[in-house]
Amino acid sequence: MPGTRPSGLPGTIPHWIGGQAVGSADGRTFDVADPVSNKVYAQAAAGSRTEVDRAVTAAEAAFPIWSRLSNRTRATTLNRIANEVEARCEQLAQFESFDTGLPITQARGQARRAAENFRYFADVIVSLGEEAFRQGEEQFSYVVRAPVGVAGLITPWNTPFMLESWKLAPALAAGCTTVLKPAEWTPLSAGLWPQILTAAGLPDGVVNIVHGLGQEAGQALVDHQDVPLISFTGSTDTGRNIVRGSADHLKRTSMELGGKSPVIVFEDADLEAALDSVVFGVFSLNGERCTAGSRVLVQRPVYEAFIRRLAVRAERMKVGPPTDPDTEVGALVHLKHYARVLNYVETGEEEARLVAGGRRPAHLPEGNYLQPAVFADVSRDARIFQEEIFGPVVAVASFEDETEAVELANATQYGLAAYIWTSDLKRGHRIAHAVESGMVWVNSHNVRDLRTPFGGVKSSGLGREGGTHSIAFYTESKIVHVALGDVHTPRFGTGASV
Ligand code: NAD
Repeated sequence: MPGTRPSGLPGTIPHWIGGQAVGSADGRTFDVADPVSNKVYAQAAAGSRTEVDRAVTAAEAAFPIWSRLSNRTRATTLNRIANEVEARCEQLAQFESFDTGLPITQARGQARRAAENFRYFADVIVSLGEEAFRQGEEQFSYVVRAPVGVAGLITPWNTPFMLESWKLAPALAAGCTTVLKPAEWTPLSAGLWPQILTAAGLPDGVVNIVHGLGQEAGQALVDHQDVPLISFTGSTDTGRNIVRGSADHLKRTSMELGGKSPVIVFEDADLEAALDSVVFGVFSLNGERCTAGSRVLVQRPVYEAFIRRLAVRAERMKVGPPTDPDTEVGALVHLKHYARVLNYVETGEEEARLVAGGRRPAHLPEGNYLQPAVFADVSRDARIFQEEIFGPVVAVASFEDETEAVELANATQYGLAAYIWTSDLKRGHRIAHAVESGMVWVNSHNVRDLRTPFGGVKSSGLGREGGTHSIAFYTESKIVHVALGDVHTPRFGTGASV
């Protein structure tokens, strides 16, 4: 039934430190609400420096055991974690959908992806070799990789469980122990990690979870001198703060940040496929997706027709309760975020032409619901063209030729993803190379391959995760040089000439 609470909802969400569920030392908690009723349904422990200290101590204690296991043994545990995630996919999806407002069908897909992240990194770590170099007959050098230590993982509220798995899996595969700080708006699904990890036989202290507010628990993790690495996914402003905070200890950081990704549709494209992709790319996951194609650039001759068809599709999208299997767009994650997105719709109405949506659907008088909004004729300096809205809102503009398409695509501070639609293959490659973004898809929406580098340029991030890039991030490499014969060393201090 729409609006039904999933069974087994906890009333409190504790930290998990050293294999124990614990509250905060000072007893503080924070409210957790669901986005359909906006009513508080649970209290989560509010961690501070004290809990982060305890979690880091537990992670340090577990490090010698976990880091020295063979890659095969760690991979076996990762596969068991994947099994446990799969066994709970339905519960996970229900919790995630209830807490975040994601449509249940899409939450199920994210739960499966979380399991796949563990399976994938189990495979990576057992198949990984090291590099070796030979200088003729004289010297041989080889690389050894060692886990960096206690990894600090800070994650956002969109697809929270899946993004937590995206960091936990490679960190554990690499041999790190971890302290995870989940997003405060959506801590529910993270509350399932303890039973999943315990059932999989992960030793206590290898994963620790500290809930809490970003400025408090998150900041304490960033400031902790014994956490040499921070992997962060979240907004660009927070990312900048974290990089600043990490500078004192020269921490290694990976920053997966915001986006305002362009979709460039040329007149020679398969317009039907492009339309499907545009609609899915910006409105799936409630539009709360870092790689959403939220700026659509359409070549002039097909612009008006494309807008009309996009508007029809947006109006027809099924907005509804997250629990309803027919729902395509659920409830936005939080009342504050809902207000922020509505604010952008208001701004958009002053800046451009609203051609669809942008209103609360009449049949949904309560909850954070919005009919997907399409804005046409958006100028490049408009706020809705420049700023990440992170909701079901798309800005559309026209372009004349390739040069203008690239100019418009690159006209924001962001550079996460880009999508190009054309039937001219040469042009597809040309534009792919010219757009400023970490990832480009040609004639496709965002189809991921876990082996490939994931990340952005400009204000969308620093560094790459995915595949062996993740393992490189969570490990420190050391080069060992070995002489294979006699070393010819200049004999200083002997009085003899060189
Ligand atoms: P956010 O930056 O507000 O919060 C993310 C996390 O950082 C939360 O856990 C929060 O508690 C924590 N945090 C906040 N202040 C902190 C501080 N001072 N020190 C340490 N931690 C702190 O982001 P959000 O609103 O939760 O998530 C949405 C953003 O995430 C969007 O901008 C979206 O584009 C981005 N995102 C990026 C990717 C990517 O891969 N590039 C993926 C998903 C989401």
